[in-house]
Amino acid sequence: MATATTELLRERVQGDVITPGDEGYDEARAVYNAMIDRRPRVVVRCRSADDVIAAVNFARENDLDLAVRGGSHSVPGFGTCDDGVVIDLSGMRGVRVDPAGSTARAEGGATWGDFNDATHAHGLATTGGIISTTGVGGLTLGGGIGYLSRGFGLSCDNLVSAEVVTADGRLVAASENENEDLFWAIRGGGGNFGVVTSLEFQLHPVKDIYGGPMFFELKDAATVLRLFREFIKDAPEQFGGFPAWQIAPPLPFIPEDRHGDTFLAFVTCWTGPLEEGEAIMKPLRDIAPVAAEHVGPMPYPALNSAFDGLVPPGLQHYWKANFVTELTDEAIAAHLEHGPNVPVVNSTMHLYPINGACHRVAPDATAFAYRDATFATVIAGMWPDPSETEANIGWVRDYYEATAPHSEAGGYVNFMAGDDQGRIEANYKGNYARLVDVKRKFDPDNLFHVNQNIRP
Ligand SMILES: Cc1cc2nc3c(=O)[nH]c(=O)nc-3n(C[C@H](O)[C@H](O)[C@H](O)COP(=O)(O)OP(=O)(O)OC[C@H]3O[C@@H](n4cnc5c(N)ncnc54)[C@H](O)[C@@H]3O)c2cc1C
Repeated sequence: MATATTELLRERVQGDVITPGDEGYDEARAVYNAMIDRRPRVVVRCRSADDVIAAVNFARENDLDLAVRGGSHSVPGFGTCDDGVVIDLSGMRGVRVDPAGSTARAEGGATWGDFNDATHAHGLATTGGIISTTGVGGLTLGGGIGYLSRGFGLSCDNLVSAEVVTADGRLVAASENENEDLFWAIRGGGGNFGVVTSLEFQLHPVKDIYGGPMFFELKDAATVLRLFREFIKDAPEQFGGFPAWQIAPPLPFIPEDRHGDTFLAFVTCWTGPLEEGEAIMKPLRDIAPVAAEHVGPMPYPALNSAFDGLVPPGLQHYWKANFVTELTDEAIAAHLEHGPNVPVVNSTMHLYPINGACHRVAPDATAFAYRDATFATVIAGMWPDPSETEANIGWVRDYYEATAPHSEAGGYVNFMAGDDQGRIEANYKGNYARLVDVKRKFDPDNLFHVNQNIRP
């Protein structure tokens, strides 16, 4: 590709166009997962949908690989590529709230921190992830599991409409009334169908919540996991939360002599009346002595950013995931065998409940197919020191192998590693064939293939 073509791109877009040798190239090519070290031919820091159109056309016309990046959290590093084009949406983070209509529209590069700060000012929220730096776009397009999903459904269930730049460089609307097939596919099908430049969400009255983490001793972990399995079946839907293996970080609410010890943590979030929170948590708190806790009333965005410090950019990441329909005693035994061996403070396993409002959406109503799953497991290796790579990847793989026989064939696309491309069809079960049809219609040449790819 001639330099002249890149120069043409510079003329066509408002945002920065960064190529090898430019100042800031190394910063522009870096993604969140430090294991990913790729050298794109050009990074386009888009400022508008027009910039996105220009970058999509440029990649297609020059037959280059195209990666799309919002919050940059993709563990397989789908937000970058070697020798191709990166569309970086981090300059498009605006969020506009319509309090009267209880909706909010976010630009394609907004993070959940941006979103929650804007909606919280109006006492409103929607289902998002548990970390504030994750992108609204990537998380929602894959489904979106979080504290509020039992009450309000997945993030994608709250998507009202979106604007999408398709592979042929058109900006189209997607909703229940326009391009319904595209709207169906982007609610779970990931970044396969185009670049989403804005997303409009339904909001719900959520301002302050009652919640936070409780730490239980390992000797009580079996009892806590079994109680969680039963409790979460019919706990009020304003309760969200999940168990997690956690090496105690040096935080003030944890006794100093326990820093570095491993616990089964239980992270909780109650969005009902604050004064009811303590009673709702009682069955959990009473099951075993709580070694440390930081549970109480707090603004929803405070819980959403409470664990950001455990997952700063620049860690190495390797994750595996599964859906679980029935959390059997055998499955719990596998968790108990591997979970306590978690190698470093950042690594963990989360077991997210999928029920309540998530189950009230039919499996074929959106691309997210596993509406009959009751849990989504993610075994997340996250470590700062490259010398710990073997230990962490080994832990993730051993843990995954032990739990896989007690899980479904598919997993949540957003929690999967780059080596899980062979499981795409299983992730979408009965919806896969329809996803392929929509892909053929909107991206027949697979321009958007740097993702958990649905092949046309
Ligand atoms: C620390 C951490 C915490 C997480 N917590 C949760 C959680 O609580 N719940 C949950 O469900 N998931 C969670 N995830 C997983 C998360 O949903 C995925 O990693 C998701 O892909 C991140 O989106 P992003 O925009 O930040 O990432 P990016 O790397 O920017 O994007 C990932 C991929 O999504 C697609 N994409 C992103 N934005 C757009 C867009 N605007 N248009 C088209 N395609 C786009 C592209 O294919 C891109 O390659 C977490 C991940 C991390 C690393």
